[in-house]
Amino acid sequence: MSANPTEFLEDIQRSLAKPRTGEFERKEYQEITQKQLEEQGINITGDPLEQALGFSVKIALRGLSADERIKVEKNVAFGVAQTGEINAAIYASADGAYAILLNRGLMMFLNKYLKLIATQGKPENLTYIDSDAQALLDSGGIEAVLDFVKENYFKYGEPLGGKVKPIPELAANASILLSLGETFAVCHEIGHYLNGDLDSALEKGVTSDGAGGATKVVLPVEHTMEYQADRTGYRIYAKGNAESEFPTEPQPLMAPVVTLFDALHYLDDSESPTHPHPLRRIINAVFSFHGADEADWILNSYNGFVSDVFFEGLKEFRQTLV
Ligand SMILES: [Zn+2]
Repeated sequence: MSANPTEFLEDIQRSLAKPRTGEFERKEYQEITQKQLEEQGINITGDPLEQALGFSVKIALRGLSADERIKVEKNVAFGVAQTGEINAAIYASADGAYAILLNRGLMMFLNKYLKLIATQGKPENLTYIDSDAQALLDSGGIEAVLDFVKENYFKYGEPLGGKVKPIPELAANASILLSLGETFAVCHEIGHYLNGDLDSALEKGVTSDGAGGATKVVLPVEHTMEYQADRTGYRIYAKGNAESEFPTEPQPLMAPVVTLFDALHYLDDSESPTHPHPLRRIINAVFSFHGADEADWILNSYNGFVSDVFFEGLKEFRQTLV
């Protein structure tokens, strides 16, 4: 039996660990990355994705009230694992701890998506591009590179290939969007925990056997619960940003969350049984925190970028929000 959520999390991570393919590795890319990190004085000692997630968890914890924070820190730990799932994988220990695991492949996909979008495929925005990505860019533009990366994500569980490095200012912007997008993902899961969704799923027995003797918590099929976790999550996210002295105006606050949902939308343009459509989720979260005007602004930004029928559906959804 594990003594605390962090030890429990590490047990689960060990049981989920899988070997990774080195097929798309590029020595030149790794050398540039290493050099840039050294120049910025950033020292990556362990797993860079764990380190990035740790940063996001810190911001999220600052968004909690004192009581909430004590409860979350006592019972919940966050980590990264190759779970292959779009939603976080949640495990419960026998003594009430929760390990919440974000999908490694999905975090990598989000990172790559943001970098590719940041460059817009323009040579002047790039400091490095691998030969596969260059060939795709020449033949089919940025969409072709994104499609290649997406195909690999579904094939290997990781968005292999299509490596690009944006110029430093664009890379910095992409990395802020990434960190804060992941922060929102953490806040959404904390939202489930604080709303009692995890405890009630366990009580109702909506679980299955997990790795290492732990119980895998499978949340029931319920869109209302997801919307509510997004609302609680956005409240935590906004306060976490404020407490971390990040900008708190609606635009910079919404941008990382919008990008996160855009990336999810790009991966899967459908409602899943458990999760509502990503674009409905962002409109709901923004409405709950910023109000009708900002929600309409987000809604209208999709006009012309999604099908007319789909847009009408989004508009109707927006009207149902209170
Ligand atoms: Zn959820």
